[in-house]
Amino acid sequence: MSELAYPYEAPASQALFDRAAAVTPGGVNSPVRAFGAVGGSPRFMVSGTGPYLTDADGREYVDLVCSWGPMILGHAHPEVVAAVQEAVARGTSFGTPAEGEVALAEAMVERVAPLEEVRLVSSGTEATMSAIRLARGFTRRTKVIKFAGCYHGHVDSLLAAAGSGVATFALPDTPGVTGAQASDTIVLPYNDLEAVHAAFAAHPGEIACVITEASPGNMGVVPPLPGFNQGLKDACAANGALFVSDEVMTGFRTSRAGWYGVEGVVPDLMTFGKVMGGGFPAAAFGGRADVMAHLAPAGPVYQAGTLSGNPVATAAGLAQLRLLDDAAYETVNAASAQIQALVTEALAKEGVAHTVQTASNMFSVFFTDRPVRNYEDAKAQESFRFTAFFHSLLSHGVYLPPSSFESWFVSTAHDERAVQRIADALPAAARAAAEATA
Ligand SMILES: *Cc1c(COP(=O)(O)O)cnc(C)c1O
Repeated sequence: MSELAYPYEAPASQALFDRAAAVTPGGVNSPVRAFGAVGGSPRFMVSGTGPYLTDADGREYVDLVCSWGPMILGHAHPEVVAAVQEAVARGTSFGTPAEGEVALAEAMVERVAPLEEVRLVSSGTEATMSAIRLARGFTRRTKVIKFAGCYHGHVDSLLAAAGSGVATFALPDTPGVTGAQASDTIVLPYNDLEAVHAAFAAHPGEIACVITEASPGNMGVVPPLPGFNQGLKDACAANGALFVSDEVMTGFRTSRAGWYGVEGVVPDLMTFGKVMGGGFPAAAFGGRADVMAHLAPAGPVYQAGTLSGNPVATAAGLAQLRLLDDAAYETVNAASAQIQALVTEALAKEGVAHTVQTASNMFSVFFTDRPVRNYEDAKAQESFRFTAFFHSLLSHGVYLPPSSFESWFVSTAHDERAVQRIADALPAAARAAAEATA
């Protein structure tokens, strides 16, 4: 879309974007940030506090991205900031074991029953990459089943038909991924157990694992149909494969014990990131102790990281997890439900076809009146209405994910005042969505 379609209203951000474009591909360090799907140029943020972000032009927004999930306590929560400052003052990286990483691992294991042992890494991508390697090393098999529209980070073998930015930009299979990596990945439609059974039957003794988002949020929010995750678990068990549940987005967000805490299906391996890092690069994979025992130095499957278990990141993550008690989840869930109701009310009033889908406090708005059960359904929505809706809200101080294939995120800091600001901005946005043309 041309720049003329949007009023030039963020000169300081625009100047920064121009500088960025000269030294960084596309001007961003992660593709969805570039506003490619919605047009216009991205806002450069300079600070965040509670539910608000402030951009380089001094404009304040109610933030419904929350750094794509991690900021579940809002920005610059005083207790998290204090924990970080205390940790920084003691030194920022030792290259040795330290107590903070033990405490964070203990806190995770205590919350998530299937997590018997955990290894800390620095990004969700590293977590899923390592979990896949471990599953292959443990089973001595090569093939991996994943689902279209699920995103597991930019791991070579998992980029096929991926969600998030790959969906946003409608990228075909990514150049740079080898034929061997792609051919070891079996991509199936989400929520389709028959397809899973057929794949196991077609590749006897070859499938190392099935990896799935515990409840997908990277094609918009598309929760598993009742029995789907249990069906995956059972199919894996019957065929000697491992069931890998990717909780990078849902972990410690959808409940105290993540999506496992909502549904109770026990995976063999799990991956985490986002909330557990408290806004810092901390992530993890873990699960069955007998499987994790195959990891170096206990076992032969190699995995390592210079900054793994970084003392500042673990201090932030631990501080955040300690604050996430039952009351905190009730607060986030209530704010989320309130915002969902306001969006539905505004869109219904303007007669805009839409479906709000939820997974605990994660939710997204699809511009279609049909339920969305998989990636094909998600792509069938009227995304041009989202674009108009997005820009109207942005110009009224509400910051949505810049893509119709993403979850919206709220925090404990989204109070009455923040929700009221969203309510005030919605009528015009709903009208813009109604009037939009393809
Ligand atoms: C964000 C995400 C990842 C990747 O995590 P990064 O820290 O961005 O590498 C993996 N899986 C899921 C489900 C995610 O939402």
